[in-house]
Amino acid sequence: MLPNDSIRAPRRLAQYNMLLPGDIEALRAICPNRVTTGADIGEDYTRDEMTEYGKYMPDALAEPVSTDEVSRLMRFAGERRIPVTPRGSGTGLCGGCVPVYGGILLSLAKMNRIIEIDTETLTAVVEPGVLLMDFNKAVAGHGLFYPPDPGEKSATIGGNAITNAGGMRAVKYGVTREYILGMEAVLPDGEVIELGGKVVKNSSGYSLQNLLIGSEGTLAVVTRLTLKLLPQPKYAASLLVPFDNLTECVGAVPHLLRSFTPTALEFMEREVIEAAEQYLGSRFPDKQSDVYLLLTFDSATKAELMHICDAAAEVCIGCKAGDVLISDTEERQESIWTARGAFLQAIKGSTTQMDECDVVVPRNRIAEFVQYSRALSTKYGVRVRSFGHAGDGNLHLYVLKDQLEDDEWEKRRKAIMDALYEKARAVEGHVSGEHGIGRAKVDYLTGGIGENPIRLMRGIKAVFDPLGILNPGKVISPIEGDE
Ligand SMILES: Cc1cc2nc3c(=O)[nH]c(=O)nc-3n(C[C@H](O)[C@H](O)[C@H](O)COP(=O)(O)OP(=O)(O)OC[C@H]3O[C@@H](n4cnc5c(N)ncnc54)[C@H](O)[C@@H]3O)c2cc1C
Repeated sequence: MLPNDSIRAPRRLAQYNMLLPGDIEALRAICPNRVTTGADIGEDYTRDEMTEYGKYMPDALAEPVSTDEVSRLMRFAGERRIPVTPRGSGTGLCGGCVPVYGGILLSLAKMNRIIEIDTETLTAVVEPGVLLMDFNKAVAGHGLFYPPDPGEKSATIGGNAITNAGGMRAVKYGVTREYILGMEAVLPDGEVIELGGKVVKNSSGYSLQNLLIGSEGTLAVVTRLTLKLLPQPKYAASLLVPFDNLTECVGAVPHLLRSFTPTALEFMEREVIEAAEQYLGSRFPDKQSDVYLLLTFDSATKAELMHICDAAAEVCIGCKAGDVLISDTEERQESIWTARGAFLQAIKGSTTQMDECDVVVPRNRIAEFVQYSRALSTKYGVRVRSFGHAGDGNLHLYVLKDQLEDDEWEKRRKAIMDALYEKARAVEGHVSGEHGIGRAKVDYLTGGIGENPIRLMRGIKAVFDPLGILNPGKVISPIEGDE
């Protein structure tokens, strides 16, 4: 891991060319007034939200505004063998948009038009740089609803698609993949492909679209998306449910899911709630217990919603919950969900540096996994904080440096992370539930899923990107000597 504040010069590989002054001119001809170089490229563009995974200065930042510009730029980069790293908003958590090998940082942020909201087919067509929060507002204006709800609303829809972002509502509505009906993408050689469309089902050959979803910018650049929308649910309420201990808390999850389909089902620990209170300067509605479940239900009628909430409360009490606090007004729900939304930043703010583990495990192994992380925390004398999507077994664990010396931190961090991924494998879990692999988890993926899947992934990469210019050093390509 790198210290938070150092911006590195890009690594250079013999297979890539450096950008020469003539290349910059060529880029400027493709994206007039939207190519930046040197010190004019802001620090933001050297990293994503996890600065720990490295800050690297690209040789040029290009901000195309059309598919044609992206296509010409990719063709040029291919001809000149220059690496290209796509970028949305840079809110990723695994170093996916970090231009480790320099070259061109291709920001899609200016391709941010909502092209169409079609209330007949319940679809929308957008450019990749549209922000999730802007899109949510726009579809709500038509009484419609885009269910994927990853925590960071300033992420782009393109970034969400290409990382297959999850989020709070995945337990009922699924992840971003379920809402992508079609896409336009530019291949590394500049060719433009169209996949899917406004159709709601599609069995026409291999699903290239599903291959691109979650490919983290290593196979193609997404330039347009057709998304599925739903009618807006009318009523929602949240239940905050304190438990005496973790085993009882997550033990209630299968009981709840046997009878209900909550929109969200999260678990949280008191220490994390306290960090969020401190971070936000506001009080959480309850802090009597060490662990909590937070559930949300939505429904078309108020009566049905209240019926579900009462029945779910009964199940919780039957599972030894200490209490059930129902929030059925927007303000009360907002106060709880604002705290939940601040967990990551609050934990980050409480330490000097951290590493993140985003494993997904079978839902009935959550307690075992979190207990194990607590044992590691004690064994290594390092704070480990966790929260997660109890409804889908996706856990977020943060290993915190605090005041440890760099060498000692590096040793203990690595030992804990190795042990966590080993344990995830042992309980039949996977390396990432939603944040992806990026740069940070490449070794854990290649070590975790077996030789044959990795061999196939490398073959797929070679078909899409034979020159290896698109987002090198990510997902399946370890960087030699990487920290
Ligand atoms: C506070 C916080 C909460 C978060 N909560 C969640 C959560 O609940 N669930 C979740 O899944 N994630 C979450 N994230 C992570 C992050 O927001 C998502 O991964 C998001 O999808 C990244 O979008 P972005 O536009 O910021 O992409 P970036 O970070 O810019 O890029 C991410 C990856 O996508 C590639 N990329 C971006 N745009 C394109 C494109 N158009 N074509 C090809 N490749 C592209 C990049 O090369 C990179 O590999 C959270 C992050 C933060 C900071």
